[in-house]
Amino acid sequence: MAKDFLKGVRDSYDVIVIGSGLAGLTGANTLAKAGHSVLLLEHHYQLGGMATWFKRRGGHIFDISLHGFPVGMIKSCRKYWTREIADKIVPLKGIRFENPQFSIETTFNREDFTKLLINRFGIEPQTVQDFFDTTRGMNFYDEQEMTTRELFEKFFPGRDDVVRLLMEPISYANGSTLEDPAITYGIVFSNFMSKGVYTFQGGTDALIKQMKEEMIKNGVDLRIRSLVEKVEVGPDRKVRGVIVNGKRIACKTVLANANLKSTILELVGPEHFDDEFVEQTKAVRMNNSSCQVYIGMKPGVGFDYCGDLLFHSEHSGFDIEAMLSKKISSRTFSFYYPETRPGSNRWLIVSSTNANYKDWYDLTEEQYEADKKDLCEKTLDCLEQYIPNVREKVDWVEASTPRTFKHYTRHLQGASFGTKFEGLKVSQDLPKQIEGLYHAGSVGIIMSGWLGAVNYGVITANEVDKYLAAAKS
Ligand SMILES: Cc1cc2nc3c(=O)[nH]c(=O)nc-3n(C[C@H](O)[C@H](O)[C@H](O)COP(=O)(O)OP(=O)(O)OC[C@H]3O[C@@H](n4cnc5c(N)ncnc54)[C@H](O)[C@@H]3O)c2cc1C
Repeated sequence: MAKDFLKGVRDSYDVIVIGSGLAGLTGANTLAKAGHSVLLLEHHYQLGGMATWFKRRGGHIFDISLHGFPVGMIKSCRKYWTREIADKIVPLKGIRFENPQFSIETTFNREDFTKLLINRFGIEPQTVQDFFDTTRGMNFYDEQEMTTRELFEKFFPGRDDVVRLLMEPISYANGSTLEDPAITYGIVFSNFMSKGVYTFQGGTDALIKQMKEEMIKNGVDLRIRSLVEKVEVGPDRKVRGVIVNGKRIACKTVLANANLKSTILELVGPEHFDDEFVEQTKAVRMNNSSCQVYIGMKPGVGFDYCGDLLFHSEHSGFDIEAMLSKKISSRTFSFYYPETRPGSNRWLIVSSTNANYKDWYDLTEEQYEADKKDLCEKTLDCLEQYIPNVREKVDWVEASTPRTFKHYTRHLQGASFGTKFEGLKVSQDLPKQIEGLYHAGSVGIIMSGWLGAVNYGVITANEVDKYLAAAKS
């Protein structure tokens, strides 16, 4: 008989969280600590959403989205998770750029970038300072008309080399482009520039394990392999419960960490919302997806230091179409040394490229497998210039595509970084449409990535908490 993953669940909860991405986990933990009964439902067999890993024969463990995040993650993890988790967050020292325009290694913070912009790129010191001050001062309430392209035009007209230095890493970090609002760039860029790029020592598996232990301690009822099929809403436009694996469970509130558009248009259903809100939802654009190639070296076989993160490109200037093209000319390599997982003897590489879902979704199985193989081979060819004779050292190679991300996280178009900016308003307006319905997860560019997702989980959990407190009184 099939295992019942919902065995022992209660009939009703204060909060049901749909999805265990970092926003869902953080929201669930925050609400459980506040004393509410919380059920967390995840359709996959593993918690973490995009913050995930997988194991392969021969002892390889690959991280999917552990390339780097801003220092703010330390504070957020200390405050909303545990000191032990926060203490494992460590800086990455070597961020490299290799492209036809420049070859640079940097610590990726304001101090080093100031030096680079002045000494290497010949920008006036005052302009550099003004640019940093402007981006640092940007916040959500600023005017949102200016695009990132206009921001760069204002400070660095005609300098596509400078634009590439400033923009390429952020595009990889959250899929943003020159046409997105400048505030989305300014907020994320400044977060990184304050102290550089950080990682979690021990790997994503260790992080999620610690988060799981903490949630269990705080009383969250965690269920994997539990697919929410429907959010039930009454004629009074209040949340009543969910249908999960065919079972109804009642609740006072739902915190959806599932894709924003599928939450509204599929899990709840457009008939429960104002027409205008449905139109706004339909108009929300998804962010791009990704391809990755995972390369594991033979046990104990290493390579010379290549930096931690390497932005490689054969293309001149910053060109988002080229970055998304299936004909790959830009890759980000994450090099993982044994210190990533202390005690291990493994060197690993994950190559990431931003990608369009449309280039992958309707291929025949045969073509799909052939294209993945081609992606692996071309990535190894490219890697050869940083790790000579890499093929002789390699033990395991495989690729993931936008189809893979869609399959595991159920994000529309396999979006890696949620939605474009307009998704944030729709996400925040959800409880104004349906009482007790909330969303937390990568939206609006600024709420995406590990730090954005964790922080948005807390922000939304606080709203849920206020609602539940008001309902009790
Ligand atoms: C290739 C790649 C590399 C990245 N690299 C970085 C990086 O280096 N640094 C960084 O900060 N960020 C990175 N990111 C982005 C970051 O991983 C995400 O922004 C963040 O983890 C998303 O968290 P989330 O809370 O939005 O939820 P998600 O991770 O999107 O999780 C949503 C969860 O909901 C579940 N779900 C959906 N529908 C249902 C349903 N109906 N029932 C039950 N469960 C459901 C899904 O299975 C999933 O577990 C990367 C992303 C990708 C794809």
